[in-house]
Amino acid sequence: METELSDGMQLIVSKFTQLVKSLMQQAEQIDLPEQVRPLEQTLRDQGRSILQLLLQQVLQSVVDRRQESLRACPHCSSNRRHQGVRSRQLDSSLGRLVLTGIYWKCPCCFWHQHSVDSVGDEPVRLLMKDLMVLAGVSSTSFDKAQIVTRHLLGVDADDEAIRHLCLKAGSEPEPGSLPRPCLRAVS
Ligand SMILES: [Zn+2]
Repeated sequence: METELSDGMQLIVSKFTQLVKSLMQQAEQIDLPEQVRPLEQTLRDQGRSILQLLLQQVLQSVVDRRQESLRACPHCSSNRRHQGVRSRQLDSSLGRLVLTGIYWKCPCCFWHQHSVDSVGDEPVRLLMKDLMVLAGVSSTSFDKAQIVTRHLLGVDADDEAIRHLCLKAGSEPEPGSLPRPCLRAVS
């Protein structure tokens, strides 16, 4: 069965088409090797921003599909109350995503949950976390790791946040994540 694209997805496809056309126009102007660098930079920056939008749309569709099923409280099975639609930020390996979902609260045991939890209950997604830990343990300082994450991952992560993730990864290895990093004496 063919999946019909939503308006958001159609917009992404049209952005990608525009990017391809603009790259081909730039390519027609290239006469010297040094002119290739700006073209490559355009593709990296705009390409990543399209992938970031795509990931956001895909994860939003998962939240939209699953959120009604989260109404029943997992603790006492009561019907939880709809507390409005709220947005939440998630840092992914493609940049910062903003997802919206219903905020549920149980009237009996007060167990609350944001529907965005169905795709990630932490502000940093797992793959991004692994990459930030890698930047942290392979740089000589967390300041430098902050520069690496900004330039390579496109996310402005606080050096304290990277330090916290590295220390946590050192004490709590997770299955499927990168090998337990050997923490060096970094400041
Ligand atoms: Zn409950």
